Amino acid sequence: MNSSIDIHSMKILIIDNSENSSALIKAILKKEAFENIFTATSVDAALEMLKNQHPDLILLSYVLPEKSGTEGCKLLSGDMHCEDIPIIMVTANNDIQTLQRSFENGAIDYIAKPFNGHELVARVQAHLIRKRVSDDRKKKAITDPLTNIYNRRHFDTIFEHFFSRAFSEEKHITFFMIDIDNFKKYNDNYGHQKGDEALQAVAKTLQEQLHRTDDYLFRLGGEEFSILLYDTPMDFVRALSDKIHTSLKELQIEHHYNEAFGQLTVSMGVTTSLCTEAMSKFNIYNSADEALYQSKENGRNQSTFAVL
Ligand code: GH3
Ligand code: MG
Ligand code: MG
Repeated sequence: MNSSIDIHSMKILIIDNSENSSALIKAILKKEAFENIFTATSVDAALEMLKNQHPDLILLSYVLPEKSGTEGCKLLSGDMHCEDIPIIMVTANNDIQTLQRSFENGAIDYIAKPFNGHELVARVQAHLIRKRVSDDRKKKAITDPLTNIYNRRHFDTIFEHFFSRAFSEEKHITFFMIDIDNFKKYNDNYGHQKGDEALQAVAKTLQEQLHRTDDYLFRLGGEEFSILLYDTPMDFVRALSDKIHTSLKELQIEHHYNEAFGQLTVSMGVTTSLCTEAMSKFNIYNSADEALYQSKENGRNQSTFAVL
């Protein structure tokens, strides 16, 4: 086993209508120090559970009461909450056709009953390691390496997702464009290393102001950040803008060359828009960009709001 990857805290869901069978699997895995194991006695119960839980691996017994294992596998692998969760079939029926159907329906592996405990553990470990490596790779692809927040690529994905969701639900979205003031002068005078540290501190402070699961922060590039909010009242939007200015003020990053303030500040352009047929992401982006320009023109360290 690759000892540098901790898989023991990863979540395993056992779906089996036989409590004896799931208790046995659970006992074997617990003995191997797997801590997060939970069970469901039917696919329907599992689908309900998956709305709130996100396991890293599913062990699915082939013989289930109300749905066959392959049907269950199809339902699970097609469920949006289950995307990317490997499913191992646990089956007494290991004829070729059954296995073929299981793999066609989304299973990644199978374990034949009566199973050997060592084999069960070995397969679970192998799939968890693979899942962890794949999760890490996916996270890296959407993370800005300097600030550890979401990058431009993920911004594009979430902006599109927010827009189409708001379009179908007739809701609005809010887009903050955030730009550090006189940052070129900061770099020129304090050095690039200090500049990088300031970007990290600003990103951390921005992140600390967001608490809801649907609030997103991104680094768009350079010294520009963005926040996307879904269906959020204007008073919340304005309060968040105030909190950002205040928290950065409290951070007290010295910047003598941001002359009016003596410390690092940001300007923001904030657009809230209903997502209708007449609207586009391009309009929203441009509006926030123009609002940001206004904030710069009006003296920096402030926000300009637009409603479309
Ligand atoms: P304004 O107030 O009008 O926004 O002026 P500004 O100087 O912030 O804007 P400008 O676009 O002229 O300069 C942005 C600077 O941000 C240029 C570059 O020195 C700096 N910068 C961009 N990316 C990085 C980075 O990854 N690290 C560091 N240290 N500096 C960066
Ligand atoms: Mg800029
Ligand atoms: Mg700037």
